[in-house]
Amino acid sequence: AKQHGGGTFRFFEAAANERLRSRQQTEQALRLAVQENQFVLHYQPKVSCNNGTIIGAEALIRWQHPQHGLISPAEFIQAMEESGQVVAVGRWVMHQACLQASRWHARGLGPFSVAVNLSARQLREGNLVQQVRQVLEETGLAARWLELELTESMLMEDVEETIATLGELRALGVRLSVDDFGTGYSSLSYLKRFPLDAVKVDRSFVQDIVADPNDVSITRAVITMAHALQMKVIAEGVETEAQLALLIANRCDEIQGYYFSRPVPAEEMEIMLENGKTI
Ligand code: C2E
Ligand code: CA
Ligand code: CA
Ligand code: CA
Repeated sequence: AKQHGGGTFRFFEAAANERLRSRQQTEQALRLAVQENQFVLHYQPKVSCNNGTIIGAEALIRWQHPQHGLISPAEFIQAMEESGQVVAVGRWVMHQACLQASRWHARGLGPFSVAVNLSARQLREGNLVQQVRQVLEETGLAARWLELELTESMLMEDVEETIATLGELRALGVRLSVDDFGTGYSSLSYLKRFPLDAVKVDRSFVQDIVADPNDVSITRAVITMAHALQMKVIAEGVETEAQLALLIANRCDEIQGYYFSRPVPAEEMEIMLENGKTI
C-alpha cells in the first residue's frame, strides 16, 4: 500500500480502514473457498491460423460463490497474490488443467495443449519446477502439452533467477509464453534473453488493429521479430472477423478471443472438440 504524506486527511484514513476490513473479509472468504473447493476452471480455445482448428485452450479460474455466483479472477487474484493463497490455488489450477487435458487426450481429442497462468509468487516461491514435474507425473500429461503463461513484469523481476527457473522448466519440455505483451516496457530484443516459445500480443493492440494503422504496424513488427527469434505469436482478444483477417494476413500463428469462443466450462469445450469446430 502507498504511504501518505504528513497532511493526510481523516477521510483517507477512513477509506484505508474500509479497504483493510474488506481485504480481511476477502481473504477469509477466499480461505473458505479453498477449503470448500469453490473454484472452477473455464477453458478458452486457442485456434491455429494455419488451418482454423482448435489446438489448445487457456485455463481461466472462476470462483463459484454459493451466494454471489460466478466471480471473475479480476476480483480476487490480486488478493490471493497478496495473501500468498495464490501459490496453493495455482497448484490446483495446474493440476486440474493438466488432468483435463490428459483425459481429452485419452479420449482421442487433440493434439491439444493447455495453458495455465502463473502468478509472480508461484514463480518465486514454493519450488515451481518441482511442482510442475509432480503435476505432470500425477496427471500423466506429457510436458509438451503444458504451456505456462507469464507476464512481462514477472520476467523483469530478478532476471537472472528467472532465466534459470525458466531454463529448468524448458528442460522438462514445458512451453513458455509471455502474456499481455506490449503492455509493459520490455522490447522483444530484451525478451531474447529468456527461453520463451511464444508471445501473446495483448488485446489492447488487437482491439484497434482495424481502425488504427499504427496498431497494425506494431502488430506486424512484433510478429516479424518474434518469428526471427523462433517464437510463435498468439493474438488475444480477437472479437471480429476483420481483426482475424488482418492477423492472418500478417502471419500471426494462433488466435484466441470471443470471435471464436468465450471461455467456457470443460463440458462445452469438449463439445467443440468433439464436433471439430473450426474458424
Ligand atoms: P489473461 O491471462 O490476459 O486472460 C485473458 C482474459 O481476457 C480472460 O479474462 C478472458 O476471458 C478475456 N478475454 C478473452 N477473449 C476476449 C475477447 O475477445 N474480448 C475481451 N474483451 N476479453 C477477452 P478472465 O478470465 O476474466 O481473466 C482475467 C485475468 O485473470 C487473466 O488475464 C489472468 O491474468 C488472470 N487469471 C485467470 N486465471 C488465472 C489463474 O488460474 N491464475 C492466475 N495467476 N491468474 C489467472
Ligand atoms: Ca493468460
Ligand atoms: Ca493476456
Ligand atoms: Ca491480462
